[in-house]
Amino acid sequence: MTDEKRVSELLPCPFCGGKASVRHERDLYLDRYQRHFVKCGSCGASGSEKIANEDDAYGAIQSVLAGWNRRSQEPDGWRLVPVEPDHGMGIAGFLEAQKLDVASLPLFDMCVRIYRAMLAAAPSPKEGK
Ligand SMILES: [Zn+2]
Repeated sequence: MTDEKRVSELLPCPFCGGKASVRHERDLYLDRYQRHFVKCGSCGASGSEKIANEDDAYGAIQSVLAGWNRRSQEPDGWRLVPVEPDHGMGIAGFLEAQKLDVASLPLFDMCVRIYRAMLAAAPSPKEGK
């Protein structure tokens, strides 16, 4: 079951940019309790869930909405990148390192230039494997 009224309040999926919705599933073991969570309709990523009885459903839904939207926002100047550099990032860093004049550039500046080259080559979460 999807709560369509709340879908517009949700930010897009942080992994693929897809449309997300709030889901409600009856708990298998607890009568009158439901599991509430946000799920991406494109890639299937889901946020943390809250289990609540009917009286506490509103608060549980607001909590999972807030959690999903918090996760969806990248602050300005920040970028979501893979934990392990992929092959393309490694090549970009290697090529940048080859261009550097190791005799005249401070080590810190070399690291920053290699870092920037690798970030520029990083896949977006949408392309990630
Ligand atoms: Zn997604």
